[in-house]
Amino acid sequence: MNNAHPGLPEFDYIKPATLPEASQFLAQHTGESRPFMGGTDTIVRMRDGFWKDKYLVEVKHFEGMTSIHFDPAKGLTIGAAAPMNQVAAHPDVRKYYPLLAEAANSVASYQLRNRATIVGNICNASPAGDTTGASIVLDGVLSVHGVNGVRTEPLKNFFLGPGKTVLKPGDIVTSISYPLPADGWAGKYIKLGRNALSDLSIVGVTVLGYPDATAKSGFRFRIALASVAPVPFIPTAAEAVLAEKPISDAVIDEAATAAMDACTPIDDVRSSARYRKLMVRNLTRKALAEVWAKIK
Ligand SMILES: Cc1cc2nc3c(=O)[nH]c(=O)nc-3n(C[C@H](O)[C@H](O)[C@H](O)COP(=O)(O)OP(=O)(O)OC[C@H]3O[C@@H](n4cnc5c(N)ncnc54)[C@H](O)[C@@H]3O)c2cc1C
Repeated sequence: MNNAHPGLPEFDYIKPATLPEASQFLAQHTGESRPFMGGTDTIVRMRDGFWKDKYLVEVKHFEGMTSIHFDPAKGLTIGAAAPMNQVAAHPDVRKYYPLLAEAANSVASYQLRNRATIVGNICNASPAGDTTGASIVLDGVLSVHGVNGVRTEPLKNFFLGPGKTVLKPGDIVTSISYPLPADGWAGKYIKLGRNALSDLSIVGVTVLGYPDATAKSGFRFRIALASVAPVPFIPTAAEAVLAEKPISDAVIDEAATAAMDACTPIDDVRSSARYRKLMVRNLTRKALAEVWAKIK
């Protein structure tokens, strides 16, 4: 294959006929192959010399990989290869899962979202992934095809570190499913970046809230934070405050401070750790207040 871009190394593009064949190939070529989805992370990482795969394995053509299906009894299933723009524009996503559409629409540019997928965003396991928080608070579950067959992986146990997940050699995520959200829920994603387009988040705050008679406060809030820990971070102490105490501005403040205290951000080119911490408090407070106004 000719090297079209001077920075992009040569690789072979493999298009297996079946999922088992794809899993076998990936497992046999561990460390030198990966599933190829939108390629928006993969091509950049290969161009920049961080990934040196010899094979990119096409998986988008398998049945169901690009479908988006809503079942009023079971919830939403999104094929792993459905581009973000299709997800965000889908009428059932907009109606029943607007938080997911909001998160997808915050990623880079319209052009990039024509290629980028939510599952690719999740499998890439960047702590800054914009759709990961919504997928966590909406209880997303991945369907995975591996060398030993099919299994599911809930997102809450999926991330092990930056770029590291529980996926094993040969694993291909085929879809992500979200159960029906609780009645009366509302959500908000706030992304703070250095500019409005095409930048990863300095901090990303996802909040989902709903009435829940089993919580002392009568409400349950789920929070996920991006770019403030090695993996997408769930500030459980903040969630507990909101479940225990009657919701008020002071309690929202207390929860936002608990979120700030729990996260462990780093200094990098996009922000200092201190600024990230302060922004976690401010933006968590803002997102909680917005959600609270809708569900109370
Ligand atoms: C200019 C630019 C701007 C960007 N801005 C943002 C942004 O604002 N917010 C943000 O969150 N991200 C951003 N990104 C990162 C990227 O676009 C997202 O992470 C995107 O969602 C990745 O999806 P993809 O389908 O392109 O994945 P790919 O690049 O194809 O794959 C990414 C990784 O996941 C693995 N993978 C993908 N699908 C599967 C699967 N089905 N099964 C198993 N493994 C799989 C791949 O093998 C690879 O290791 C940006 C990237 C660029 C180039």
